[in-house]
Amino acid sequence: ALHNSLVELRGNIRVHCRIRPLLPFDTAETVLVKCSRPGHAAINKTFQFERVYNASESQDTVFADVAPLLTSLLDGYNVCIMAYGQTGSGKTYTMLGPQLEENFAFSIEDESELGIIPRATQEVFRLISEKPPGSYWVEVSVVEVYNNEIFDLLAKDSCGKLFGIKRDVITTREGKSDVPLLTYETVENASEFLHLVNKGLQLRVRHPTLVHAHSSRSHLVVTLTITTIASGDNFDNKSTSSSRASSPVQLEATEKMKQVKTRLQLVDLAGSECVGMSGVTGAALRETSFINRSLSALADVLGAIAEQRPHIPYRNSKLTHLLQDSVGGDAKLLVMLCISPDQRYLTESMQSLGFGTRAR
Ligand code: ADP
Ligand code: MG
Repeated sequence: ALHNSLVELRGNIRVHCRIRPLLPFDTAETVLVKCSRPGHAAINKTFQFERVYNASESQDTVFADVAPLLTSLLDGYNVCIMAYGQTGSGKTYTMLGPQLEENFAFSIEDESELGIIPRATQEVFRLISEKPPGSYWVEVSVVEVYNNEIFDLLAKDSCGKLFGIKRDVITTREGKSDVPLLTYETVENASEFLHLVNKGLQLRVRHPTLVHAHSSRSHLVVTLTITTIASGDNFDNKSTSSSRASSPVQLEATEKMKQVKTRLQLVDLAGSECVGMSGVTGAALRETSFINRSLSALADVLGAIAEQRPHIPYRNSKLTHLLQDSVGGDAKLLVMLCISPDQRYLTESMQSLGFGTRAR
């Protein structure tokens, strides 16, 4: 409890770091990155984050630190949770859970293994269930950003089959980021949500463009939009809520009814490994340079926020433009750095720890 209250007291950006266990496919016998003491990750150098999880800490433990953030959603704040790290460092495991190799879906059999995305959704529905029935509703979109293009994974063709249409992100007149025509599906509970996300993920298997992309070469962004109707009397002064139903005061209150939308964006980023550009040609070169550019655009945005610069360069990539409303301002961001303990990945681990350090 003490820990969670500390988490809540921090600013709008927090960085947690998770070191995954050594797994059979790792080569090193030595564990390189260690959790030296709570909140510290050590290689030769010590890095400090709000929280560091060692290899034995469970999905349950990780989510216990995430849950307090979600209450902000119902208080009107946008929230973003993203996993950063090289391929194989545990991003998808942390965000979704164990992924099924054959179709990219994730396994929902074992609840203890579920990651942040399914748990956060469950928590959102639990928070809503404590409110008067029908006062909040939830819509979901699932997109994949590949080669700086946005694919709507819930879009359907005329026969109702999922199709994966390309979309674009724009800035609205109010200065918000918006994806026109993006498919939003209303969901009533967490299990409906899980099936929907899994259907979107499986689409990759037969999608004309995404079938060529290894899943770690693209960014996955799952967005929950939570809408509530706030009436004038909830908003302004309580004196307008009276029994004088037809009085001018009451009428005025009705006109002030407005929809309040908040967003939870959950992001499984593309692998951050520093793929050399030399010797890479054609499609692979294109892919690599798009990943490098989008992740450096993200680093630039987080750096600009950390330095409190007046201009945040959201529009330098589709990824950052898409996340604009839930990163920066009064939105709450959690960056989950995922780190492999394998010595082989020293360069990549150092790079990730550096990314996290700059974002704070
Ligand atoms: P990434 O998405 O970063 O490429 P994955 O999430 O796919 O990495 O993780 C790589 C492998 O390691 C997967 O087989 C995954 O199930 C396993 N793994 C990752 N983190 C953990 C963990 N904390 N506990 C157990 N297995 C893990
Ligand atoms: Mg992955």
